[in-house]
Parts: sequence; structure tokens; C-alpha cells
Amino acid sequence: MVVHRGGCHCGRVRFEVEAPSRLTVAECNCSICSKSGYLHLIVPKSRFRLLQGDDALTTYTFNTGTAKHLFCSTCGVKSFYVPRSHPDGYSVNVRCLDPGTVEAIEVEPFDGREWEKQYAEGRTAAGWVTART
Ligand SMILES: [Zn+2]
Repeated sequence: MVVHRGGCHCGRVRFEVEAPSRLTVAECNCSICSKSGYLHLIVPKSRFRLLQGDDALTTYTFNTGTAKHLFCSTCGVKSFYVPRSHPDGYSVNVRCLDPGTVEAIEVEPFDGREWEKQYAEGRTAAGWVTART
């Protein structure tokens, strides 16, 4: 485990997250993730710390309203949020991590367009749900 740091584009939102240096992340094809190019690293809340920017975050919700999409109100970047699959944790956008601590990234596709079907099949070691079991 190492501590990765990251944040939004303008720098108002900054966080740190404990995770391996070699990351397995999920690329989701749902309506919102495909438009933003989000790469998910799911962690329990205990491994995430918001360092600054609580006052800069805007929340966007749709569909079931379970996921809390948190955007920087200045630059519009979603660097982390509360995902529908893990409302008790966070999904960090690996594209928003600072360089220097990530050794490798393995990307697993996630079929978020068929969310209900995928979720029934269970979570992966990466903490996400996937068609591959
Ligand atoms: Zn920003």
C-alpha cells in the first residue's frame, strides 16, 4: 500500500488515497462514465481523505440517486465520488492522481450500461462488479 495524492484540474479539490502502487481499475461504459472517461479505483471510506475542497464540490445525481457525483464547481472535474455500487466507499478517478506513485494500471472493462445484471453477479477483487467472474 502507498499513499497516492490527487485532485481536480484547478487544484481546489485535493485528496489522498491508500492503495497498491499497481492498480486494477474499472472502465465503465454507462451513460455518465463513458462521457467523462472516468477510470474507477474503489476504496473503503477509511482509505480516502479529502485534504481540501469540501466547499468547492457540487453534487449531481440522476436515476436512482444513490451515486453522488461530486464535481469541482470551478473546473468541473470529477476527481472522486460516491458510487452506486459502493455507497459506503469512494471511487477515485485514477486519471486525477498525481504522477509519481502509480507503477502500473490494469484496466478492466465494466458493463455499466447493464448495471442491474452486472451487480447481481458480484464484486471483483478490484472492488467493482464485472461480467468476468
Ligand atoms: Zn477544480
